[in-house]
Amino acid sequence: MRRFITADEVRKAAREASGGEKAFIYAEKEDVVTDEARDMARTLGVVISSEITRRPCICANFKMNGGPGFMDKYAAELASCLAQFYPEYAAETDVIVAPPAPLVPVALALSNKKAIYSVAGQNCYIKESGAFTGEVSPYLLRECGADYVIIGHSERRKLFAETDALVAQKLKIAIDAGLTPIMCLGENIDDRKTAKTFAVIAQMLTALYSIPIEYSKKVILAYEPVWAIGTGMNASSEQIAEVCAFIRKNIMVKLGVDFSNAIRILYGGSVNETNALEIAVIKGIDGALVGGASLKAVNFAKIIAAFKTDARSN
Ligand code: PEP
Repeated sequence: MRRFITADEVRKAAREASGGEKAFIYAEKEDVVTDEARDMARTLGVVISSEITRRPCICANFKMNGGPGFMDKYAAELASCLAQFYPEYAAETDVIVAPPAPLVPVALALSNKKAIYSVAGQNCYIKESGAFTGEVSPYLLRECGADYVIIGHSERRKLFAETDALVAQKLKIAIDAGLTPIMCLGENIDDRKTAKTFAVIAQMLTALYSIPIEYSKKVILAYEPVWAIGTGMNASSEQIAEVCAFIRKNIMVKLGVDFSNAIRILYGGSVNETNALEIAVIKGIDGALVGGASLKAVNFAKIIAAFKTDARSN
């Protein structure tokens, strides 16, 4: 829904900016900034974000599920459901499927040269090739037809002890290999209960800041609160909007307002066909990373359809 940004809001943002930090108001394309608010922002040095359109991106994360037979049926069903629910999706959104690594070429072939979806790896290693048994080279993913790779998923951070430093290395080599990384970040339940969410997110964002800016520009972020992943308990719209605004503000301070406005931020954590529209209309959220619910093509198609431009602007 359209929001009016008033001089009062500008004054409030200026008052609340702490310790030399620049005050920032996040405005979406459809929001109206009153003339008085604009003047006030100039006087008080408050940044109101400029208005740009970001293309929605919806990515299915199959995790360690599915095989060739499943993929075969899935691709056909997804194509037919999308034709039914959202025929113009390819012109307006980026639809991505991240199957287990051995299925990347299969998924790509079934997508009919990316006509249905693009393909992502779920992880990659920090080297091009060599004695790294069991690891997947980002260059090989690319050669097999992947366009994207998920980096720093919470399951990898938790089960395989991936650190922010490793995530940064992965981002860099993935981009060198020609992949677009989808970098996951999010707090766990203890972080949230102890009011450490913003501190944890700020720390995770250091991976984005530790690579050259030409690289950071290629990254898509996925805010995924760990407590919402696979639990059926998605974060509330307010929680998502709050963290998303925090991320954009943090990025604005480090990399500038244009960068902050341009970067895409997806939400992930128990997104399903029922709550997708509620998530799609959250300001600053540009798509979804979907685990469990993406395993049914019909449900994934409904989630994609929730990101239709006209559905979101109502
Ligand atoms: C995920 O694996 O990134 C995820 C968000 O899972 P789910 O949708 O099942 O919570």
